[in-house]
Amino acid sequence: MAFLKGKRALIIGLASNRSIAWGIAQSFAREGAELAFTYQNEKLRPRVEKMANELGSTMTFPLDVSSDKEINNLIKKIQDHWDGMEILVHSVGFAPRDQLAGSFIESINREGFKIAHDISSYSLAGLAKAALPLMEKRNSAILTLSYLGSVKAIPNYNVMGLAKASLEANVRFLAADLGPRGIRVNGISAGAIKTLAAAGISGFRSMLSHIEKVAPIRRNVTTNDVGNAAAFLCSDLAAGIAGEILYVDGGYNTIGMHIDKEK
Ligand code: NAD
Repeated sequence: MAFLKGKRALIIGLASNRSIAWGIAQSFAREGAELAFTYQNEKLRPRVEKMANELGSTMTFPLDVSSDKEINNLIKKIQDHWDGMEILVHSVGFAPRDQLAGSFIESINREGFKIAHDISSYSLAGLAKAALPLMEKRNSAILTLSYLGSVKAIPNYNVMGLAKASLEANVRFLAADLGPRGIRVNGISAGAIKTLAAAGISGFRSMLSHIEKVAPIRRNVTTNDVGNAAAFLCSDLAAGIAGEILYVDGGYNTIGMHIDKEK
């Protein structure tokens, strides 16, 4: 179909072939988008370069989202290659590991709160601010990744739930501000997927086996499921959608109770 033909997309958050960003990149490439990527540090650089090459991209740049300087340098480097950009994907989240285990009240502290909110929420606004001159008035789209922990208490997710709630509010404020400037901002609330970031959450495996038993589609979602929804949301097919959080979780968030059928 190639419904992203003519769109230039910057994808932030590629770390491995299990990353949600990789599922998104594959769907975007299939639909004809031109791609650029960032890597968080030198250790990840070769892997990200190799994956970018697989999808025909040679545009890979360093970015640690906790640094305004790195955000501004990234945008300057993109400007050397592209005179505009139609898609920005923010697939980044982080909280120190000790924040993602055990009881909320025992784990939370000021430093953990600050880091989780800075990396996982502020960075969306910081990137949108820096990318604005490249993206405005182009039927552009910004997309971020959230999780059910933003609206429901989930074991071990703890301070990340607060950061995701902030991220989802960020989506609505950005959408209201940037919509009139030709940029739609949305989020996908993805179901649980075994990625590097997810490995930091205690009890993740039990979550996956619970979900596949009770979710309406009776399986966990894949990075391809999320990638396809992301491609749609960032395309002109979704021109009427802004400020939304789209659940791509096999319907898990819609279930109130599950009872095993009597045999
Ligand atoms: P991942 O580990 O593959 O990706 C997380 C990315 O965040 C990595 O590329 C990492 O380099 C990047 N990152 C972390 N700190 C950074 C920093 N300071 N600067 C720049 N980049 C930084 O894991 P993932 O599951 O693909 O996570 C992507 C997004 O999806 C995250 O926002 C995560 O919260 C969200 N999400 C994940 C799941 C899940 O179950 N895996 C479910 C819902 C939402």
